[in-house]
Amino acid sequence: MTRCTVSGQAAVEPEDASVPNAAKRSDGQFVDHWVLCETERAKGFVRPVRDGYVHVGAPGAKFPLRELTPEEHERYDRFGYVKFEAYPDGAGMFWTQDRLDKIGKGCGTRTLMPQAIAETYARKPDYYGSTFCCGCGKYLPVGSYGEFVWDGTAERVGT
Ligand SMILES: [Zn+2]
Repeated sequence: MTRCTVSGQAAVEPEDASVPNAAKRSDGQFVDHWVLCETERAKGFVRPVRDGYVHVGAPGAKFPLRELTPEEHERYDRFGYVKFEAYPDGAGMFWTQDRLDKIGKGCGTRTLMPQAIAETYARKPDYYGSTFCCGCGKYLPVGSYGEFVWDGTAERVGT
């Protein structure tokens, strides 16, 4: 899929780079970002076009967390796993302390984005793996386990 840039300028970096131009502004944000090209965005949105998100921190577990069994400790301590989230279907997920510590620990800042990026999210919600927080001055993950919700909603950015 061809990628375009927010600026409309030709990319400095190769098409497979995470950003079209590795130069950064004084606030830590890259000077330019990839977007879906206008013709691709014009094919229709699968989500509302929203231009602002809030850094709320990572979501907590959906299901109860339990302690690890002695056998799990033996096998998984080296990965840093400290809890297990047991899904009703028998599957589940291990949690590290680092991930537990990030639950709900966003800075609360609302960040606005250019229209082309807002439309890219609306056309292809999982297009980006991370996004910039103006409060923290850095890029942080989006998606189901990401740290952002769309302004005024509980909906995670990137889902
Ligand atoms: Zn932040």
